[in-house]
Amino acid sequence: MARAPSTIGSSLDLDLFQALELIRTKGLKRIGLQAPEGLKRALPEMAREISQQTGAEVIISGDPCFGACDIDLATCQEVDLLFHLGHAGLGEASSKIVFLEGKMKEDLNEAVERAIPLLKMKRVGLATTVQHVHKLSQAVEVLKEHGIEALIGPTCERLRYPGQVLGCCYYSVKAVETDEILFIGTGQFHAIGIALATGKRVVASDPFTGEANLIDPDPMLRRRFGAISGAGHARRFAILVSKKAGQRRWEVAKYIKDLGETNEREMFIIYLDEIEPDRLLNLGIEAAVSTACPRVALDDTAKFKIPIITPPEFEILIGKRRWEDYSFDEII
Ligand code: SF4
Repeated sequence: MARAPSTIGSSLDLDLFQALELIRTKGLKRIGLQAPEGLKRALPEMAREISQQTGAEVIISGDPCFGACDIDLATCQEVDLLFHLGHAGLGEASSKIVFLEGKMKEDLNEAVERAIPLLKMKRVGLATTVQHVHKLSQAVEVLKEHGIEALIGPTCERLRYPGQVLGCCYYSVKAVETDEILFIGTGQFHAIGIALATGKRVVASDPFTGEANLIDPDPMLRRRFGAISGAGHARRFAILVSKKAGQRRWEVAKYIKDLGETNEREMFIIYLDEIEPDRLLNLGIEAAVSTACPRVALDDTAKFKIPIITPPEFEILIGKRRWEDYSFDEII
């Protein structure tokens, strides 16, 4: 029998060998594959390998996937086992789901070296995403060579690895006893989240683009102030609740509904899967509070014709929280 490749794609290790072993050992006949957009290209190759090497039928989930919060439960019902690629699991998951996390091959040494001139403190917290978390010890060593102590924060129910962050959870970096964080990872998405969630000084270094920079959360805060002000005139609000299991927050929605109604707003709970502008068009609402992924309000706001704000931002709008006490919306 041919040895299965353990690597799919050029820079990400996905342990296909582990997947094949599992399928063979359990004698599974029908397998599901789900991946975020950035990994979807790997799925046909993976499906072919699985069916050639195990004889199992493979079904690829065709719906968008945004995170481990977003398991395709419909596909899961149709298969013996669903492999979810590229994310670490969030807390407890069904025994029918296996997370193949995906590990970036790139070393972090250069990314840390580039960030060092931007760091101010001799103790910094380290943060990264699940794709790089297995290489955080490299970052610790490089910082140590430059006389900087690295602190790696703890896990929580939503974070599987020390030092890991998610776009909706920054527990690890809040817990470290330092006011400066070095984030190593792609893009600004998580780095701005760290700055907003912790109020700490954040330096971000991208191992792929080679860019390192100091994060300035002010432009985002100005946009959030604008969104809250825009929603301030609204009387009729939607409270968006996600059908995705890892984003569904009924308790928060209920709290926001009570808060709004106590303050003479009309509040309607809208339960939906994808939060897209056309889903809200015909509801006659003037603004929305999203209890789903916090990034919907923060990063996709320009797509919507009405202001979309987070639950803590609604508290500011109502006057229950001061703007000075702005709080990043996290899913705990
Ligand atoms: S809720 Fe949003 S940020 Fe959190 S895991 Fe899901 S997609 Fe990522």
